[in-house]
Amino acid sequence: MKEIISRKEAKVLGLTHYFTGKPCSRGHLSLRYVTTCQCVECLNKWQIENADKKKEYGQRWRDRNPDYIKTWKQENPNWYSEWIEENTCTSQN
Ligand SMILES: [Zn+2]
Repeated sequence: MKEIISRKEAKVLGLTHYFTGKPCSRGHLSLRYVTTCQCVECLNKWQIENADKKKEYGQRWRDRNPDYIKTWKQENPNWYSEWIEENTCTSQN
């Protein structure tokens, strides 16, 4: 049995994962990432299933846009956490 810790508490403690004690939408009783609110097991499965596709797609895109990502990330250093904060996590806290 895992110890229940809210996302807020985990954030304060500087942890990377939290645990709600409730199953995710696919029924996994797993830890979730503080940054994205994603179920660890869902993400693992998704990564295994899409590993090849993702690699191929990402590589192709980077070949075509070598400097775009770098420049854009420098201009928007917090885009990811801000976007997640606004769009993903609010309903799952
Ligand atoms: Zn899951």
